[in-house]
Amino acid sequence: MTDATLVVDVGATFIRCGVAGGGEWTVTGDTPPSGHGLANAIAEMVRRASPVTPQRILVGCPGLVSADGQLVKSLYLPFAAGPLRDELTQMLGTRVLVHNDTYVQASGAADPGERLVYIAIGTGVGGVVVAKCPDDRGRHGFAGELGHIPSDHRLLPCRCGRFGCLDTAAGGRYLEQRLGVAWWKDRSQGAVVENLIAAGAALGAAAAIAASIVDPDRLVIAGRLTAYQEVTTKLFEVFRLMSWLAYDIDLVEDGSIYALRGALALAP
Ligand SMILES: [Zn+2]
Repeated sequence: MTDATLVVDVGATFIRCGVAGGGEWTVTGDTPPSGHGLANAIAEMVRRASPVTPQRILVGCPGLVSADGQLVKSLYLPFAAGPLRDELTQMLGTRVLVHNDTYVQASGAADPGERLVYIAIGTGVGGVVVAKCPDDRGRHGFAGELGHIPSDHRLLPCRCGRFGCLDTAAGGRYLEQRLGVAWWKDRSQGAVVENLIAAGAALGAAAAIAASIVDPDRLVIAGRLTAYQEVTTKLFEVFRLMSWLAYDIDLVEDGSIYALRGALALAP
């Protein structure tokens, strides 16, 4: 057994693995179609990344992950939730931690002791608050799940069963549904511009609401959508209108690399 910590990032379409504190993901594979398949795929990936059993494995998973590391609900994984941590512990015979993927990223983005609001935009929109007490994730472990706070975005139906969530305005899956899978190749279309501006407005409002509740040191908004000026101009405009204070907002196109650092904070 080595004293290394391996980090596994589970996404809607692919999973990847790297060494905590490293600068890159070293092994990548497809997300399997079943929950049991996910545990097998992760175990296989861990063995490829580290022929010697690592001391700890930290898995970041999209969706609601309970305080004891079980996947309770995920809207973008192609299978039902399950006892992921228990399965992996049994398969790998080492310490396994499972957290929400955005929480893992945010833990790496936060400076020590920093109070941070972190919003991750990908296939879906994730959110998390990192406070001074890193273990305080709310009664059920789901605090800061900003992707499903009410947004004023046309009250569109959301995969979570409700209407008008931030996810429906800024989540990649919803943009693809409305604009087609390759929408980003032609951003001159009116519908694309309109959707990007609406996404920016919804993100700005969500950030302002989160800032009012949390009063953070800083906010980070991560994801490829932050590369689009239509999004960011509107985001900052709405945030300025709605937020009482002028908080710093950092935009990051790829927040995934924070997860490799986050593992050092969450699995010391
Ligand atoms: Zn929702």
